[in-house]
Amino acid sequence: MQGYEDRQVAGVLHRRVGDILVTALNDGHQDAPLSTMAGIAEAEAAALLHAAFRPVPRRTAVNGFLVRHGGRVALIDTGCGPIKPTTGRLAGNLASAGIAPGAVDTLLMTHLHPDHFGGLTGPDGAALYPTAQLRLHAAEHAYWHDDAAMGRADPARQAAFFGGARARLAAYADRTDLFTGGEVFPGVTALPLPGHTPGHTGFLIASGGKSLLIWGDIVHVPEVQVARPKATMAVDVDPAQAAETRRRIFDQVATDRQAIAGMHLHFPAFAHLARDGEGFRLVPDAWSLDLDGDI
Ligand SMILES: [Zn+2]
Repeated sequence: MQGYEDRQVAGVLHRRVGDILVTALNDGHQDAPLSTMAGIAEAEAAALLHAAFRPVPRRTAVNGFLVRHGGRVALIDTGCGPIKPTTGRLAGNLASAGIAPGAVDTLLMTHLHPDHFGGLTGPDGAALYPTAQLRLHAAEHAYWHDDAAMGRADPARQAAFFGGARARLAAYADRTDLFTGGEVFPGVTALPLPGHTPGHTGFLIASGGKSLLIWGDIVHVPEVQVARPKATMAVDVDPAQAAETRRRIFDQVATDRQAIAGMHLHFPAFAHLARDGEGFRLVPDAWSLDLDGDI
């Protein structure tokens, strides 16, 4: 145990969906001021966080998900990349799950923001996944290569978001494959969820009558946006569309009792959503000894 007293053990949790094994991989967390949110008064957001016993400024978990099916291995999002004080743990957690980067044959991207694409490459800019096919929505690929859109962004975002996305895509240029929907990996269907970014995509995993929707960045601050779905993020490319998409997906998963997981739900990020007054209530799944969960 020596050396482990001051940190958590691996951030890895398995959940089986029929014949498919999904593994949540934690990357860490990011803290940010409430000024990074919009569509809600800062005082109201702070009160919601306070009532949920959460820190203010807001704390946002970062996760990726591994999908194993029939000998194939996909990784959905790669976290923030080269390790920083509170992020960059995904690669280590992938190793803890027994998966070498060379075993990942498909990379599925929900969208191209730095906390999702950062782990595509190492500090030297080289691809970290030597043989994986990179798959993302065509609108996402187009947006981050749009010089006019880049010209409208502030200099910091031009460098970190547009520049960062272009550099990562360049590292995978000879093995990138664009989609607009449909099955993108055996048992995994791409579900366009535009607004946060133009090509923002969720992935519906289904097998043997079971399913799990990995909804990407439908939520960044669960305590605030689940109760107040109109609350948006400063980084939303189209905040009105992001809020509309969030409301639509909330309605759908609450009605269907659909199991969900998210990049910014608190680890291990498997949950359900229930209606609660004007808004909704997130019900995190209980830890389960077996891999199937309780329902
Ligand atoms: Zn994100």
